[in-house]
Amino acid sequence: MPGRYPRPQWLRKQKKLSPVVIKTKKVIMNLGLNTVCESARCPNLSECFSNGNATFLILGDHCTRNCAFCAVDHGLPVAPDKDEGKRIIRYIEALNIRFAVITSVTRDDLEDGGASHFIRVVWDIKEALPEVKIELLVPDFRGELEYIERVADLPIEVFAHNVETVPSLYPGVRRGADYWRSLQVLKIARSQDMLLKSGIMVGLGENDDELSQVFKDLSSCGVDVLTIGQYLRPGRDNLPVRRYYSPDEFIGLKEKALRCGIRSVVSGPYVRSSYLAEKNYSETLRKNV
Ligand code: SF4
Repeated sequence: MPGRYPRPQWLRKQKKLSPVVIKTKKVIMNLGLNTVCESARCPNLSECFSNGNATFLILGDHCTRNCAFCAVDHGLPVAPDKDEGKRIIRYIEALNIRFAVITSVTRDDLEDGGASHFIRVVWDIKEALPEVKIELLVPDFRGELEYIERVADLPIEVFAHNVETVPSLYPGVRRGADYWRSLQVLKIARSQDMLLKSGIMVGLGENDDELSQVFKDLSSCGVDVLTIGQYLRPGRDNLPVRRYYSPDEFIGLKEKALRCGIRSVVSGPYVRSSYLAEKNYSETLRKNV
């Protein structure tokens, strides 16, 4: 059974259902929003929701790709909802947050990959709440320069695109994606003045040399912030975990990535791309001073 396989002691996080967690869930439901926290069965959900932090999943909750690590449903997606940004604004106001993380399902069915929807959502928020900082975690837009540039040109604080794993594992882990295309997305976005972020999961069968090469590749793309976390199988249809890294090994990975030239590295068993995003943003900026 998924979730019943033995996990090491450091991967037994307690779920706490505080009043704020319940409120956060209610607001999300009442506004008809999707979050990757719920759709991807993120293990940090109760911790993040207890601070009102959620990562909004725009463009529906059905993905046109079917990555083997991901629990988000795949299938026929819905048409983009032009009021989605306004509903996110209502969430931001209700939970009084000052840093919004927004991602999407991959929409290979849309001519622009959903770029115009990202643009509309960001402008809606920035016009209504200019003080709110935005981190976008974007798909690869099939590598199309025009759409990547238009999204990277938005007035956002963080542009994130995850490579997720090492290139040798792409065929089994990220079908439909391409490691070199993802690096290209990051390189194109680098021309803009904002933090550039990427993320990788470990435990899928990668080796140390491959991880070192990914850190070097991301550094050469100008990535400022890298997140490294343990892959945890979200359901029976997903890939099994090949290896659990210990907390000390995560420290070793962090040191290795820093030596490769990445300015800020967040590494730990429960680290996810959007985990403590606001804190990581502020700390990375401080390192710049
Ligand atoms: S780590 Fe990210 S995806 Fe997971 S619960 Fe927190 S905000 Fe949501």
